[in-house]
Amino acid sequence: MYCRVIVDIVHENVAKPFTYLIPENMELTPGQRVAVPFGSREKEGIVIGITDECDVPPEKLRTVTRKLEDYPAVPPELMELAQEMAAKAHCPQAETLRLMLPAQMRGGRVNVRTVRTARLAVEPEEAEKAIREDRRNGKRSQLLQLLLSGESITVPELARQVRDPGDALKKLEKDGLVRILQEESLRTPGGAFAEVQDPGYELTAGQQEALDEILPSLRGKGKKFLLHGVTGSGKTEVFMNAVRETLSLGKSAIILVPEIALTPQMVSWFRGRFGPVAAVIHSRLSAGERYDEWRRIRRGDARVVIGARSAVFSPVARLGLIVVDEEHESTYLNDRHPRYDTREVAGSRCDRENATLILASATPSILSFAKARRGDYVLLEMPSRVNDRPLPEVEIVDMRQELENGNRTVLSTALRKALKECISKGEQAILLMNRRGYNSFVSCRSCGYVVKCPNCDISMTYHLGDTDGRLRCHYCGTEMDPPQSCPACGGRYIRYFGAGTQKVEEEVHRMLPGVPTVRMDYDTTGTKDGHGKLLEEFRSGRARILIGTQMIAKGLDFPQVTLAGVVAADMALHLPDYRSRERAFQLFTQVAGRAGRGKRSGRVIIQTYQPQDPVIGFAARQDYRAFFESEFRRRRNGLYPPFTVLARLLAESAREEKAADAAAALEEKVQGMLDSHPEWKRKTLMVLKDTPPVKFLKGKHRRHILIKALVSKETDAFFGALTEMAAEGAEDAEVWFEINPTTMM
Ligand code: ADP
Ligand code: ZN
Repeated sequence: MYCRVIVDIVHENVAKPFTYLIPENMELTPGQRVAVPFGSREKEGIVIGITDECDVPPEKLRTVTRKLEDYPAVPPELMELAQEMAAKAHCPQAETLRLMLPAQMRGGRVNVRTVRTARLAVEPEEAEKAIREDRRNGKRSQLLQLLLSGESITVPELARQVRDPGDALKKLEKDGLVRILQEESLRTPGGAFAEVQDPGYELTAGQQEALDEILPSLRGKGKKFLLHGVTGSGKTEVFMNAVRETLSLGKSAIILVPEIALTPQMVSWFRGRFGPVAAVIHSRLSAGERYDEWRRIRRGDARVVIGARSAVFSPVARLGLIVVDEEHESTYLNDRHPRYDTREVAGSRCDRENATLILASATPSILSFAKARRGDYVLLEMPSRVNDRPLPEVEIVDMRQELENGNRTVLSTALRKALKECISKGEQAILLMNRRGYNSFVSCRSCGYVVKCPNCDISMTYHLGDTDGRLRCHYCGTEMDPPQSCPACGGRYIRYFGAGTQKVEEEVHRMLPGVPTVRMDYDTTGTKDGHGKLLEEFRSGRARILIGTQMIAKGLDFPQVTLAGVVAADMALHLPDYRSRERAFQLFTQVAGRAGRGKRSGRVIIQTYQPQDPVIGFAARQDYRAFFESEFRRRRNGLYPPFTVLARLLAESAREEKAADAAAALEEKVQGMLDSHPEWKRKTLMVLKDTPPVKFLKGKHRRHILIKALVSKETDAFFGALTEMAAEGAEDAEVWFEINPTTMM
């Protein structure tokens, strides 16, 4: 017999499977990992099929060296998924297969920890007989007694109950009563699960209605749902109940969260309610722990998996449910190769395995809501908060007016007053400042010169405190001292513009001296457990005001927060991207949703220089439907996704003329392709060579070609050809092809 193997090398020339001879005494199934000779070396590979036909000449045929595990590491459903994803992303299957395995497993880097275990080698009756015959009731009988259940028990475990069992076990083994084995031992991360005995809540009417739709789908043919519930409507409780039902049906569930570090509460709820059948996958696990969690899942010991996007590939036994929480988050798009959209992959897994999909959000993505309206998803709505708590009152403050009244600080009179009241009542507040750092940029008052990063075409940001008043680039991390005088005109008036999280923090300290605050942004959360520590500081009440970038808007539940402030709404609204309105609406609504989640009602203040902007109005009224209709119309009129597909070819080079040359050559090739494929050309709306908003990044000059096309199978084929073209690269330049990239900057 022969097997077809995908060798774990990502290269155009080895993208196809290779045929190997299976040695006489070896049994293999698809999904199994093997070591095979490849060229002059040994490589790892995955068996994709077994056949009795050999398509290589006998003199070239080589033999499988050995198998790496005695079980298929990739189960059949995931083998199919890898194949489908490779076809869609136009990439070698070796690349998508890598997603299905913990990285540590490749290259034999895991050390499997083993432990000695003992189990009965005979029927229990025979062991009982031996116990009766042993009148002294010595160690032998005690050990046999412990092993009567037939399960294997580790030797250290036995030693806790019977002192020095070594010799007695050896004798039992010699007599053929007991078998001693070397078995894999699994590390459980974070020690034993804290068993918070959490009974769950009595469901509200809204939760019950949603669940009544979901339960039949779990029991029968899986459906797809979009759970649209306002902030604080209790979506988590709905899917916890769905998970419980999934488990009781003997199936498994996968819960995806945008960023595991930001969902400590959810994780502890799941652990509390489901105990050790829950596996949590996060980046702080050691390599060994990660592998062990994967093994627990693969063996079917862990049947609830909670993790970020890559957990969608968990090899659970009998998949019943996938939940994508906060489905609108851009972290669900994997930008690195191979590109994938977690929501799509989850949907495709559910189709294949007959499982139920729940996408949940208070502010669904335009794409998902449009699909729900078209009937691809069943729309479940929870329009009110748990226990009829009111949605917070939102007030819009016109910052132009503030300036006219002589207030030149980042905090308006209204926000100052509200903060003081909130603190004096012993409550907590959060302030969103969608930019980290102290001031956004540094420029010369006389000539307008702006200090930019020497490696990127991005303004440098002023930082106080940890970097001693230095300037830092947010794209590449370069630091430098602020100039004393203007490098362009020599002027002495170098001024700081705009504001960041640090500036807001300083302003708050000046106004409320002695009130403890925490600042949460990329700079303060860089350390290993940064997020957790800062959040705990706030949750415990030690800190009273939380100041941060958009990371504070994600799914946090602090009952003591009664005030939320958006310090500078305009920054989010005016990024050069067709999605900036969608992101801004989501951000404002999510921040507003953090206020008033406890017993006291909440208040929200949005500061802006453009109070008439409709997006601000929709967010203030928390009117998702109105926002959706307006944005959907705008996208249709402007022919933006989901009505079209946007893609770009990006050329990068250390030398500007090389990037420009590459872009020109690429554009010519694209036009050539379109000329020879009129069916592609008919679906293509735009091909535009341009300099991107960020024209110099991390030491590379950049040019791109933007392509807009209608959604169609001709476009798929066209983009497939472009992917292959990009893979060939260009002379002296790197070329990337991105379809609907998360950023067009
Ligand atoms: P969402 O994710 O929809 O914003 P959460 O799931 O975080 O809302 O729930 C909001 C709050 O309401 C949480 O503190 C949660 O513990 C609580 N909660 C959820 N369901 C119920 C219920 N049925 N009864 C009482 N409190 C509930
Ligand atoms: Zn830089």
